[in-house]
Amino acid sequence: MEKIRRTKIVDVLKREDYGTIVNVKGWVRSKRSSKSVNFIALNDGSIIKNVQIVADVEKFDEEMFKLITTGACLSVNGILVKSPGEGQASEIQATEIEVLGTCPSDYPMQKKGQSFEFMRQHAHLRLRTNTFGAVFRIRHNMAIAIHKFFHDRGFFYFHSPIITASDCEGAGQMFQVTTKNLYDLKKDENGSIIYDDDFFGKSTSLTVSGQLEGELGATALGQIYTFGPTFRAENSNTPRHLAEFWMIEPEVAFIDLQDLMDLEEEFIKYCVQWALDNCKDDLEFLNKMIDKTLLERLNSVVSTDFVRLPYTEGIKILEEAIASGKKKFEFPVYWGCDLASEHERYLVEEHFKKPVIMTDYPKEIKAFYMKINEDGKTVQGTDVLFPQIGEIIGGSVREENYDKLMGEIEERQIPMKDMWWYLDTRKFGTCPHGGFGLGFERLILFVTGMQNIRDVIPFPRTPKTADF
Ligand code: ATP
Ligand code: MN
Repeated sequence: MEKIRRTKIVDVLKREDYGTIVNVKGWVRSKRSSKSVNFIALNDGSIIKNVQIVADVEKFDEEMFKLITTGACLSVNGILVKSPGEGQASEIQATEIEVLGTCPSDYPMQKKGQSFEFMRQHAHLRLRTNTFGAVFRIRHNMAIAIHKFFHDRGFFYFHSPIITASDCEGAGQMFQVTTKNLYDLKKDENGSIIYDDDFFGKSTSLTVSGQLEGELGATALGQIYTFGPTFRAENSNTPRHLAEFWMIEPEVAFIDLQDLMDLEEEFIKYCVQWALDNCKDDLEFLNKMIDKTLLERLNSVVSTDFVRLPYTEGIKILEEAIASGKKKFEFPVYWGCDLASEHERYLVEEHFKKPVIMTDYPKEIKAFYMKINEDGKTVQGTDVLFPQIGEIIGGSVREENYDKLMGEIEERQIPMKDMWWYLDTRKFGTCPHGGFGLGFERLILFVTGMQNIRDVIPFPRTPKTADF
């Protein structure tokens, strides 16, 4: 076969230099045959669309056509021609076809309309389907949007460690990291494991959040963001929780609650707008196949002001809804309760019909580092609540006062022996600061309209599953 430089299908579909010989490579999505021609839909992952290969029966060996089955990998040389068919500008009149990889009939992604559960069991091959191609192209685009957003605004990309010795991050259960022989653990007289001879000489875990280190960055570089993997051994088998997920955590010096909420809103809108501008084909596909209200929802988020709602007012709205008989909830509502997802969704989807930034939570239900309001009861925490998703962002202004912070740490009996470095930020030149954490996969869920968080990360880690 003559060597011609490969053109990606995304580029071939834009070309109009009909008559030129091109080469494309990709996987067969489908084949239709008539007496005199075979039509092959070829996809190479560069775009959701396929290029149509037209192969005259008489020009090729019959045996070769038999090898062109769904999933087979081909290299095709041919003439770029204007397509007479609807819905595509150009197609390729094949002159040479090489079968790079045949695909037997037990190829699991052959049938259309497989369940998502089936696809998860074949996560190594589901990437080749239209839906997952769309999801992962969008995921890439969102990562680029995030870096661009922060870079353009003078934030520095800051790498917080993945292995950590602080056990007080408090955001979730941690996975331990050790090189110790688990069959032969050295213990002290109380039965506690001795870590002196472990790799780091102390007990270590995978990080649940880069925030505490992020604060060190922000109180030096002014504004930073992290974007990396985080790990939570929470046994919550929900469609919105993973044991390994990616988090974006900006942290900003000299910021107040108002600025923080503005940043959260601007950031999310920027990401959604980026998707609308850069992922049109994939979004249209998902809108058609997965969720008919997706585009409408995305457009509505970028064009509406988010509601800013103090927790206390939110509780009032929920209590009124219950009292008037408008709504029944499974979990009780009272001032001081941690809102359940049904409560959050009522506020967002039924009451306001808009994203809500909830603020000023009772301090008992929030982390120790959040700035305490003058009432002494509430803290400057913010959760951004989204339709369908629930909590997409959790953030706060941080308590910068050393004594107040220590008061909270002592009251909660948080073990701080390894956290002296964190307290130093409040000791040496403390400054007002704040930031937030966005779960990357929750953003991808929202932007793609997918229902399960396991379907927006290539290889999900959840309780009892770590395949691939
Ligand atoms: P949730 O109440 O939904 O469990 P959280 O309060 O534990 O969330 P934070 O500790 O504030 O969440 O983490 C910041 C963000 O990280 C959340 O707003 C969410 O977007 C995301 N997140 C938290 N836990 C998970 C998880 N297990 N899987 C995926 N994303 C998560
Ligand atoms: Mn959680």
